[in-house]
Amino acid sequence: AVLCERLTHIYRDDEGTEVTALDEVELRVRRGEAVALVGPSGAGKSTLLTLLAGLVRPTAGRIVVDGEDVVSLSERALLRMRARKLGMVLQTPGRNVLPYATARQNVAFAQRSGTLTRAERRAEAAELLESVGLDEHADRPARLLSGGQQQRLALAVALAGRPALLLADEPTSQLDRRTGDAVISLMLAAREQRGTALVVVTHDRHVSDALDTEYAIHDGRLEAGSWLRSASLGH
Ligand code: ADP
Ligand code: ADP
Repeated sequence: AVLCERLTHIYRDDEGTEVTALDEVELRVRRGEAVALVGPSGAGKSTLLTLLAGLVRPTAGRIVVDGEDVVSLSERALLRMRARKLGMVLQTPGRNVLPYATARQNVAFAQRSGTLTRAERRAEAAELLESVGLDEHADRPARLLSGGQQQRLALAVALAGRPALLLADEPTSQLDRRTGDAVISLMLAAREQRGTALVVVTHDRHVSDALDTEYAIHDGRLEAGSWLRSASLGH
């Protein structure tokens, strides 16, 4: 689902100082593989997610997402690729949702018309909201939900488009254990049902333990100490 080759990203600040956020990263994520990215603050985790999402163009290297060469796509093609193939849960919950739309509307807007009937879409939206524990808040505007509720709504919205790839930045950071577990289950269900690949930045042991593969990032480098949990995936 994802291939990164010699992926390098250098930020340049106002004084011209350069920060190498990612340094020749090689990463391969298969369809249906669930990857945790761990590492200290400033290691380059968020940068990697924004590059995978095509939100920022890398300084050098190659990124292929579900068969599309992200680096060479036009802005318009990138927008289409994101809408069709990607689900994103950014770190700031409020930025993932439309504040004045209700929880249910947020999910409905993210669903694709495709093959489902209106009734099927409505049922799927209700199911997604229930699976993140928001069924009772479905008709509240997103801005009136708590941080943790917005974070769970963000995941429901991200999965509503049935993405090939889900990118999530600390999706459980504001959740207690129980709602965090619900979020993990929902991500794994998408992987089981539709082969969604998961790339999840997390400091939460419960999350990384539930995924297949863990990569550590330090100073922009993907660590050789990464290991594979599920032997069946092979590498
Ligand atoms: P992490 O998500 O692991 O905390 P980041 O990807 O946010 O790491 O940051 C990696 C490095 O790039 C850090 O040194 C950070 O200070 C720097 N960095 C991140 N975003 C920017 C930016 N917009 N401009 C300049 N430097 C940045
Ligand atoms: P969570 O565990 O999802 O973060 P909280 O414990 O923060 O939820 O919130 C508990 C209840 O308080 C929820 O029903 C939520 O609707 C309500 N609530 C929390 N923050 C706000 C807010 N800023 N505006 C309106 N209601 C809020």
